[in-house]
Amino acid sequence: MGKPIYKTAQDLEKMRKSADLLGRTHAEIAKRIMPGITTNELDKIAYEFIKDNGAKPSFLGLYDCPSSILTSVNNQVVHGLPNNRPLRNGDIISVDCGVFLDGFHSDSAYTYEIGNVAPEIRNLLKVTKEALYIGIENMKYGNRIGDISNAIQKHVEKNNYTVVRELVGHGVGRKMHEAPEVPNFGKAGKGEKIRNGLVIAIEPMVNMGSRSVLQSDDGWSIVTKDGKPAAHFEHTVALVDGKPEILTTFKYIEQAIKMFHN
Ligand code: MG
Ligand code: MG
Repeated sequence: MGKPIYKTAQDLEKMRKSADLLGRTHAEIAKRIMPGITTNELDKIAYEFIKDNGAKPSFLGLYDCPSSILTSVNNQVVHGLPNNRPLRNGDIISVDCGVFLDGFHSDSAYTYEIGNVAPEIRNLLKVTKEALYIGIENMKYGNRIGDISNAIQKHVEKNNYTVVRELVGHGVGRKMHEAPEVPNFGKAGKGEKIRNGLVIAIEPMVNMGSRSVLQSDDGWSIVTKDGKPAAHFEHTVALVDGKPEILTTFKYIEQAIKMFHN
């Protein structure tokens, strides 16, 4: 994977814009996500919104990906391909999306509740989102990647859930996937030093049951081996003046959820 590529102030200015557009793209999905809609329809919404704003969907064509978003429902952990199955009341769905604007990618995922979701599954979402923010707090000057990884793992396991190990977070920049890898498990004090200008996608993938996953027959989606639900939240985060700056945002998503679904 090579060495991390540290971003300049100018690069970061561009990445903020890419990430802001990504946050607003997620909100377009958040407005429409409800029982009855298909993930193909959500994909079209994202594609058109990104294009209308003068950017490109990062995922489309990356490793031959056929869609602008990846939609992982219930026991799918990540990399689910959009399809024509309508979402049902009680489903959860992770929507992962990336935007390429003015030379830079941004990457963010959010797991949505469709209608009324069982309380124990809602708790899985809550803990996974908490783990993301706890990971972000540990992205600070003087720490190493392992400090982020370890903090995420501890929070997840304290809550009796498990961390997926086959897939990890990553550097983000002119390429969607750059060094370093950012696992959601590991030892504190290990790994790459965190320096100003580092930009990484932190993305805990958390299973309700066992941590084992399988690749499904479509060659894309990663599913839990025991069929239990999984959640995924992701932000693109930069180290600026020794502190984490979250470039992507859930602000627009959460505004849309309040406005359209309460
Ligand atoms: Mg992503
Ligand atoms: Mg990512």
